[in-house]
Amino acid sequence: MSEKSQCTQCSGIFCYPNIAANQHPNFDEAPAFCPTKLRTDIIGEALSHYDSEEVKEFARLASVQEFECYEHTPDGIRTRIPRIEETVQFAQKNGFKRLGLAFCSGLANEARIVVDILERRGFEVISVCCKVGAIPKERIGIEPEEKISGPKFYESMCNPITQAEILNEEGVDFNILIGLCVGHDSLFIKYCQAPMTVLAVKDRVTGHNPLAAIYLSHGPYYGRLRRRAQA
Ligand code: SF4
Repeated sequence: MSEKSQCTQCSGIFCYPNIAANQHPNFDEAPAFCPTKLRTDIIGEALSHYDSEEVKEFARLASVQEFECYEHTPDGIRTRIPRIEETVQFAQKNGFKRLGLAFCSGLANEARIVVDILERRGFEVISVCCKVGAIPKERIGIEPEEKISGPKFYESMCNPITQAEILNEEGVDFNILIGLCVGHDSLFIKYCQAPMTVLAVKDRVTGHNPLAAIYLSHGPYYGRLRRRAQA
């Protein structure tokens, strides 16, 4: 195995250089851990997937959508639209009609608003809550003491596989995730068949903005995030 890729340690000036369209990126001075230099085999193999008409068109429309999220003004390039509009526009570009919405019960209000917005834009939306099935957490080995509301109460497990399977069976064109927990989202992504995007990730203490803790990790409030693990 070659040296591990460490793009975070690089300025990125080699793979997204500021050069004219008729020039070629030069990697002579790129760092030794640069995967563009080291993993030409994988780059070539991965690139071949874009030869599929379907994949190529999806990738093309994603980049067109990316382009349309900016505007050129006399003051320079500016951002234009929030992610919900980006999602709507991308779905429209692809001709998606039926959308799946997999949401967390803790963000049910937000999910309702999103469905309203999507329906007003002409989409049909099939929404499935994470607690679908009302299966008790004991089914997956959770102990009574590990239930959030306490051992005496019934607690339905999050059921992302069922969310995915219902949306698969509904034949949706595109799935949107709102607020699934870490790990539950992993299972949804693993089992869902249609393409999907994440509108919002859950972060219980930052208003669902996990980067807030990252931004604060160099100060006193979330400095603990940067403590080294004990050996
Ligand atoms: S691919 Fe290479 S040039 Fe690009 S960020 Fe990673 S290390 Fe830097």
